[in-house]
Amino acid sequence: MQLDHEMTVLAGHCLCGRVSWSSPGPVTRNLVCHCEDCRRATSSPFTAFVGLAPESVVWTGDVNHFESSRGTQRGFCRNCGTRLYFRSVKWPGEIHIHAATLDKGVDYRPTTQVVLRSRAAWLEDLHTLPGCLEFEAPPRDAGS
Ligand SMILES: [Zn+2]
Ligand SMILES: [Zn+2]
Repeated sequence: MQLDHEMTVLAGHCLCGRVSWSSPGPVTRNLVCHCEDCRRATSSPFTAFVGLAPESVVWTGDVNHFESSRGTQRGFCRNCGTRLYFRSVKWPGEIHIHAATLDKGVDYRPTTQVVLRSRAAWLEDLHTLPGCLEFEAPPRDAGS
């Protein structure tokens, strides 16, 4: 998947499908964020964002937001809770949409990492962990 000007339309949706979005671009940012706020807000070790001009994004469905700090909004689906976007007065001309909501998110490729000083330590070893193509069954000793 290419995130450049040849991409005609970016599109995504939440887990339950009630919220969807699309944008013709262009992409202003394409990055992984390791900051603690993003980790907590997404309950994940990091998140990836696609930056777009807010007026270029068409939303359908019922989107709510949480103001995680003054002037910073984190949008989510009212029905399933999927995180959808980050907006801040610090970056008034942009909305940062969670790349994991892309319809073809499995093919997504970020180009930059930010706030590396907050990166979860275990990510350094992620590529060394045993892997399974599907869910692991039965459970094994978790090595605790
Ligand atoms: Zn939803
Ligand atoms: Zn962040």
